[in-house]
Amino acid sequence: MSAIEDLYREIILDHYSSPRNRGELVPPALKIEGANPLCGDELVLYIDEKDGEIKQVKITTKGCSISQASASLMTEAIQGKKIAEVQNVIDNFKNMMLKENSFEPTVNLGDLEVLEGVKKYPVRIKCALLPWNTLIEGMKALQNHKKPEPVVME
Ligand code: ZN
Repeated sequence: MSAIEDLYREIILDHYSSPRNRGELVPPALKIEGANPLCGDELVLYIDEKDGEIKQVKITTKGCSISQASASLMTEAIQGKKIAEVQNVIDNFKNMMLKENSFEPTVNLGDLEVLEGVKKYPVRIKCALLPWNTLIEGMKALQNHKKPEPVVME
């Protein structure tokens, strides 16, 4: 394993063993449930949005190290950001995970880049994307002022 892969693995394990922004938020914070039945990953994402900004985000997770690390890294990447910036991070992250060739991000993805290595294990990509698809449902609910639907990875 290369030094960079070692470092990436360390960051993923760190977020798995000490997840950031773990917990719950009370209404009117948005609550969105997500599941990846293939692997048994489950999470609940809470978003407190005000004036077009993600004021606070919390998450409870259960499942594999990839889904939990991805959730933890995601909360750090979106907390305190404007909705448009969050959308940009989502688009870049999904492109990174789903494009076969190498990819040039248009925003600084920071530690999120460690998850690109998951592409080598196609069955785990859904684990990494679960928190993000849950977030996308949350963003839609905020924009359309509707109740979020539970997200199930297929
Ligand atoms: Zn998983």
